[in-house]
Amino acid sequence: MDERFAFLAEWYDPSAALLRRYQLLYYPKDASVEMFDMKNQRTFLRRTKFDELHPEDLFVGNRVNIFSRQLNLIGYGDQYTANKLGSKKERTLAMIKPDAVTKVGDIIQMIYDANLIVTKAKMTKLTWKQAADFYTEHQSKSFFNNLVQFMSSGPVIAMEVMGDEAVSTWRKVLGPTDSGVAQKDAANSLRGQFGTDGTKNAGHGSESLASAARELEFFFPSTTGHGPSNTAKYSDCTCCIIKPHAISEALTGKILKSIIENGFEISALQMFNMDRVNAEEFLEVYKGVVAEYTNMVDELCSGPCMALEIHATDAPRTFREFCGPADPV
Ligand code: GDP
Ligand code: MG
Repeated sequence: MDERFAFLAEWYDPSAALLRRYQLLYYPKDASVEMFDMKNQRTFLRRTKFDELHPEDLFVGNRVNIFSRQLNLIGYGDQYTANKLGSKKERTLAMIKPDAVTKVGDIIQMIYDANLIVTKAKMTKLTWKQAADFYTEHQSKSFFNNLVQFMSSGPVIAMEVMGDEAVSTWRKVLGPTDSGVAQKDAANSLRGQFGTDGTKNAGHGSESLASAARELEFFFPSTTGHGPSNTAKYSDCTCCIIKPHAISEALTGKILKSIIENGFEISALQMFNMDRVNAEEFLEVYKGVVAEYTNMVDELCSGPCMALEIHATDAPRTFREFCGPADPV
């Protein structure tokens, strides 16, 4: 029998306003997928070749796009799949501290180079109280006041980072806590390259799965509220969207770096998973105007995108010039 991986997947059906549940099967041998409707106990999609599904995206907690349907993978369908694909996948909180926010391009590149992916991201400015709450474990330390002062001195970028042993892999990318030690012992680490001293050390990473769960909940609450607010200024600015295909091709770091090197300020940043209705609304002005409208909607809801507020004088004009023609060719 062909090797196959099984998942429990959920899809929000907007027309029925219902969460539908499927068993999703993936056959690596010929890159084909098959779906069963769990409630009605029948085949929903016959085994069909589908090259656009990347096997590395198949893990619980991730969202995949199958023939324009966004499916949330909510569980493993059998023990074989859980053992083979699930055992080492972790999520952690990675944060770019105020001293290194302009290095976001290089830092996101380092995340992907370490075989990790960014699944959530938000630029925010912590209040003194939020920074103190985040670092509550250190409240009795001598460096606590300096640390909280520093962490609330400017914007930070919080990210959910996912991959094999994400907690320890990301800590390895960060390097030693003290930037001086990092420069000596791990010059290529994030802190070795971008840190300044004991406090200003460019990045944060959760220390364990338990602290990752707490810290992710702090920035990206799963139940109520939206967490710390974004930094959008809504003045002298334009909106830039890094499209899902560029995110999945791991081009985010390179694009952010190029934006900053060309003199634009990124004054807000957040990743979104656009539902079809939201993508249609966002792109509504193109409806009936350009032939590509439907393809544009398909693309925008095919995976996470990153929205940026670009702050500059005459931003709408200068940034479009920087982007270049719509057709890359
Ligand atoms: P981390 O997990 O590697 O970030 O290190 P810790 O959890 O021990 O400390 C949290 C943060 O507090 C560090 O990233 C530093 O910014 C700061 N910090 C830790 N230890 C010291 C120290 O001895 N002196 C100073 N000035 N800052 C420190
Ligand atoms: Mg720590």
